[in-house]
Amino acid sequence: MQRVCVYCGSNPGRGEEYRALARAMGTAIAARGLRLVYGGASVGLMGELADAALAGGAEVTGIIPGVVAEREIAHSGLTELVPVASMHERKTLMAERADAFVAMPGGLGTLEELFEILTWAQLGIHDKPVGLLNGLGYYDRLIAFLDHCLAEELVRPPHRALLKVARDPETLLDQLAAAGAAPDTSPD
Ligand code: AMP
Repeated sequence: MQRVCVYCGSNPGRGEEYRALARAMGTAIAARGLRLVYGGASVGLMGELADAALAGGAEVTGIIPGVVAEREIAHSGLTELVPVASMHERKTLMAERADAFVAMPGGLGTLEELFEILTWAQLGIHDKPVGLLNGLGYYDRLIAFLDHCLAEELVRPPHRALLKVARDPETLLDQLAAAGAAPDTSPD
């Protein structure tokens, strides 16, 4: 695993703790010598994440569509800023340019990105690991809902198992590196 794509909020979240979590993820990515791939914004948790990764010496690729570059203010200090024409192109390129995916606390856009990349894994479009950073227990109810989907037999066990979950960046990155090194070969 050399490149990690991180999805996270364009808002900063309530209080300081979410920002600290985003910085911890950026710092952990840099400390492992990984490249960060993300949405290219300078605002919210996305900006905190990128700033911390850059401060730690990581190379950072931002992928941002013209339509959102103004609203989310494209980060001007990245190693590489790739302008794209649409949200679909952004997500496709983010997926191509990464070896693993992490969703951090975020809003509707983050949820959409997480579930798209998970469903692409479910369909076998890619076999890269996907992780959920459940810092501050932000995703507790989502995890409980996924277990409900499993219990109701609308999500199958191997597909529920596609999502790795941890409360801190180091543990999650360890899990993703291990999953990437030994892809799940269980039948679906
Ligand atoms: P949010 O989690 O809503 O703060 O958004 C996080 C990131 O997801 C931002 O860069 C948004 O531009 C992006 N985003 C919002 N809606 C979508 C969508 N439908 N597909 C992909 N990305 C999105």
